[in-house]
Amino acid sequence: MRKNVTQRGAHSSQPRKCRCPNVSLSEFQIIERFFTRASAEHHSVELGVGDDAAVLRGSAEHDLAISVDSMVSGVHFPADLAAADIGYRALAVNLSDLAAMGATPIAATLALTLAEVDELWVRDFSSGFFELADQFGVALIGGDTTRGPLSITVQVFGHLPSGRKLTRSGAHVGDRIYLSGYTGDAAAGLRLHAAPESAVTKDDTDYLKMRLARPEPRVRLGQHLLALASSAIDVSDGLLGDLEKLAAASSVGAILNLDKLSLSSALARCFAGDARKLALTGGDDYELCFTVVPNRESQLEALGDDLGCAVHCVGEIVAGGGVVCMDAGNEVEIEARSFDHFGAL
Ligand code: ADP
Ligand code: MG
Repeated sequence: MRKNVTQRGAHSSQPRKCRCPNVSLSEFQIIERFFTRASAEHHSVELGVGDDAAVLRGSAEHDLAISVDSMVSGVHFPADLAAADIGYRALAVNLSDLAAMGATPIAATLALTLAEVDELWVRDFSSGFFELADQFGVALIGGDTTRGPLSITVQVFGHLPSGRKLTRSGAHVGDRIYLSGYTGDAAAGLRLHAAPESAVTKDDTDYLKMRLARPEPRVRLGQHLLALASSAIDVSDGLLGDLEKLAAASSVGAILNLDKLSLSSALARCFAGDARKLALTGGDDYELCFTVVPNRESQLEALGDDLGCAVHCVGEIVAGGGVVCMDAGNEVEIEARSFDHFGAL
């Protein structure tokens, strides 16, 4: 699932390296080596491991997109985040994966592990969860409740028109790369949550912290993109790293124009020196990065206006592999990439 850059590790007390003799596998190597199989084991599996959600063949009308994500206290969210925000966020990060597939959310299950029963905490958690569920008409249809260190696993189910889906693997050379909203805000919000900065205004602090606590899954945008985009991924681990995943899945390369990357005014004001790095490598923004054939810029800007969410063209798909960052015509090397739960500390 979704993860953050080093900021997420900063409040983690858990070891992040795989305890294998003489080898340290990344999260993604673990998935690829042990859980990705050459063929689907059931004829109903349209799309298995490797994208933002799996797709099962359903009725003549609908296929089913399914995604699951776990959130561990102190790893995926600060342990002292408000309970209502934790509930909201646990569902939001999952709906974001459905958005990246172009799916319409229908239902969710919730596995909740609690260290203790604090009735007020659970009440607030559920109110945050249902606040978002009600926004998208998502039914909670089951789950599990157990005792242990606080962790939350949400699985979501969404409808796709039969035979249709938006994937990471459909980008073509020449397609333009778009990004919804702004990235870097959630990582800045996490910094401010950990250590408030007196130089930052209350409005900016509130905005950035809200972007961490209550990400807005771009479900409506994803639904429109099903008919417009050639590929999509939600930005959970950092823009650069997630664009790399999209490019790899599509067997293409990508040019990211840093001078086209829009920053929120709060991020630009509060973290001027670091803003671009946060926007490129900070995780947890849950914006959509997607590709579209050329000359659709005005159509996408209009769609963004309709949905109340800025949509910017930030680059282009090219032949080859990997992501190259350009700034005013010059190639720029960016060191940090995306978050990996088992990556080097
Ligand atoms: P996302 O960030 O979109 O949630 P992840 O990076 O967590 O996606 O996972 C990448 C892909 O690997 C997804 O298709 C996910 O379903 C799959 N995956 C992750 N962990 C496992 C696992 N333990 N077993 C099978 N598939 C997995
Ligand atoms: Mg995803």
